[in-house]
Amino acid sequence: MPFIKKNPKKVGLAKIAPKPISKPKEESDSSSDGYENSDGEYVEKPKYYRLGGYHPVVIGEDYNGYIIQKKLGFGHFSTVWLVEHKENKVQGALKIVKSAKTYTETALDEIKVMKKINECDPERKENVIHILEDFKHNGPNGQHICMVMELGGSNLLDLIKYYDYKGIPINDCKEIAKQILKALDFIHTKCGIIHTDLKPENVLLSFTIPKNKKEPIPKIIETKLADFGNANWINKRFTDDIQTLEYRSPEVILGLHWGCPVDIWSHGCMIFEMLTGDYLFKPKQGKTFTLEEDHLAQFIELLGYFNKKYLNIAPQTPKYFTRNYELKHIPNNELHLWKTKDVLIEKYKFSPEIAEPIASLIEGMLIYDEDKRFTAKMCLEHPWFK
Ligand code: ADP
Ligand code: MG
Repeated sequence: MPFIKKNPKKVGLAKIAPKPISKPKEESDSSSDGYENSDGEYVEKPKYYRLGGYHPVVIGEDYNGYIIQKKLGFGHFSTVWLVEHKENKVQGALKIVKSAKTYTETALDEIKVMKKINECDPERKENVIHILEDFKHNGPNGQHICMVMELGGSNLLDLIKYYDYKGIPINDCKEIAKQILKALDFIHTKCGIIHTDLKPENVLLSFTIPKNKKEPIPKIIETKLADFGNANWINKRFTDDIQTLEYRSPEVILGLHWGCPVDIWSHGCMIFEMLTGDYLFKPKQGKTFTLEEDHLAQFIELLGYFNKKYLNIAPQTPKYFTRNYELKHIPNNELHLWKTKDVLIEKYKFSPEIAEPIASLIEGMLIYDEDKRFTAKMCLEHPWFK
């Protein structure tokens, strides 16, 4: 048993961090847009219903012929509502984006991306949420871009929570992982789109998770990739400030070129999270080291040292590493290497036969060098899916 299990240290190793006990992850983050209300529901903070913020929606209201039925969810950019068209009775998810200029501009890009997806998939067969129409709505907080989308079900984070952050059954993980890989292969190779914000909240499952945990989970039929609000074109990237922290790739942290492989990295982190209920990487700033240094330390502990060639070309290397390629404030002798396979066996009690192919897939998805990292197609051919 590795030394680190008995001696949790101050750096690295999200893998030994205590599990969140059925608390919403977002709750700890004071900068997030939501909080847990007295009914135990995670809802948007009222203070964001202000000029430039969310639009106040009332059940039964009519938006361009779509009647609001109930709230489906919310994110940093928007609130999302179940709607039904008053004439043709078509159901959809209405995303109403915050009204400030930056959100509006982002939403206009999101619409372009979603229209490209429709163009590449006119029969709507791929595992992505499709847009049905878009319009603008004027309200007390400003003008909001509205998107009517295909209806999805619960998001993957809700499923992780349903299992009390203890891991989703392995066959379900496999099915979800596979369908997301198909979606990634489609957007990367057919649409020229990089999602850049792959995480459980942005993956929708075609069922509704029962509120009462005694009720069994309906069978997972379809998984769809959602939230193209941060998507970039392979040929035109809007920003280098991408990916939610826990799912952020080394090329982004180190200022290197990035592309489609960033989505594979995030998905690798997500597969581990589905299987175990824990974040794979959970960087934290310490008294003597920065958030990024802790993040890099966690990479090294799980995946091994970066090679010198890689660090030599990375623009941000001098910020975090010494001339000897050691982290500036976390020397190598403070790092405790612990391979993915061993983590799965020792901490999460997977049998070696089960852990081995999973670890091999995850490690392929977490290769530092983006050119060597598995593509979505390569992942789909991996023995774990056979
Ligand atoms: P944001 O850009 O604000 O993060 P998202 O597109 O991620 O918005 O939507 C926020 C939440 O709303 C999602 O996490 C999900 O729970 C719900 N949601 C989004 N789109 C749909 C949809 N098409 N069907 C069902 N629920 C959805
Ligand atoms: Mg989102």
